[in-house]
Amino acid sequence: MKVYLSPPVMNADVERRLVAEAFDSGYIAPCGPMVELLEREAAERFGFRKTLATASGTIALDLLARALDIHPGDKILVSDLTFIGSIAAFVTMGAEPIFIDADPQTWCMDPHLLEAALQRYPQAKAVIATDLYGQSCDIDALAACCAKTGTKLIVDAAESVGATYRGRASGKGAWAAIYSFNGNKIITTGGGGMLLSDDEALVDLCRKLSAQAREDFPWYEHQRVGTQGRMSNISAAIGVGQLRHLDAALRDKATVWDAWEARLRTRPWATLMPTASYGVSNRWLAVITLQGIDPFKAVEALAAVGIESRPLWKPMHLQPVFQSCDSLLSGVSERLFECGLCLPSGRNLRPETMDEIIKIMDTLC
Ligand SMILES: *Cc1c(COP(=O)(O)O)cnc(C)c1O
Repeated sequence: MKVYLSPPVMNADVERRLVAEAFDSGYIAPCGPMVELLEREAAERFGFRKTLATASGTIALDLLARALDIHPGDKILVSDLTFIGSIAAFVTMGAEPIFIDADPQTWCMDPHLLEAALQRYPQAKAVIATDLYGQSCDIDALAACCAKTGTKLIVDAAESVGATYRGRASGKGAWAAIYSFNGNKIITTGGGGMLLSDDEALVDLCRKLSAQAREDFPWYEHQRVGTQGRMSNISAAIGVGQLRHLDAALRDKATVWDAWEARLRTRPWATLMPTASYGVSNRWLAVITLQGIDPFKAVEALAAVGIESRPLWKPMHLQPVFQSCDSLLSGVSERLFECGLCLPSGRNLRPETMDEIIKIMDTLC
């Protein structure tokens, strides 16, 4: 592979200097001043009361599952069209997921289906809605549904860092949101994530759970079981540089998206993912639906010349591991999986590469 879907981009010497600073301070891991700085700057930038830097987005969700005290048999209502990282921790703790199909206009959780699901499962412990490919879910509509039953709304905003919803940062307005700083996301710490919430007690609890639920005693005292989920000071140093230059990343991603849009306009075989009117996507990936081209054949044809592309997330209700789970379906996520394709969307993607991809795709229809 020579062309990747969304490779990380460092900012000249910025991250290198911050990592050197972290190194020289003697704080390598865990914790340290860079972790505190990243948490403070992220809280300011995204407008949340409190944040917790974590070792991954997945572990941030794990901490929320622990905070909710998930037990075997607990129901959770979750996006059908998502990455399994959204729910892996909850399911591992015995939660039973019920899958909610996507809205055709946003590709995120359909609020009408959530409303119906909450009527069927009013005792559900949580709703986990995914922001798909950089676009926020309709938080206000989902939150209004959850308010009726007092269900906690978690937004898996792993893919939408820097996106906005009605002028607010992605995930703002939910009980809690998680971000991912994995290597292929819009900004990276090499591997890391974040929990963000306006519920300060929740973030404090998750902070404790992320350090093996150690109580404030001179010895190791535990009243409950936690995990190791903290971000290292070195990772956080990279994150501080990345976060300070998030706007440049957003500009680059928008430029790549616009370039794709200009090229695809004349192609009868492609339609770009719809853009919701309620917000601004971070344009993490340029995703298209295909007419007359098999996306799985396209992935193969592009891979043959060293270009990475990917089918959409395979819907959770189609996963063998979730065969026996209930779901509320409209057919949207299944249709999107059958015809969707994620195109290379790296910040440094060259126009010549886009033209080459278009040429190969033209031969497939
Ligand atoms: C990337 C991703 C995650 C997991 O984040 P990690 O930091 O890789 O653990 C969770 N959910 C979605 C939707 C993602 O795209």
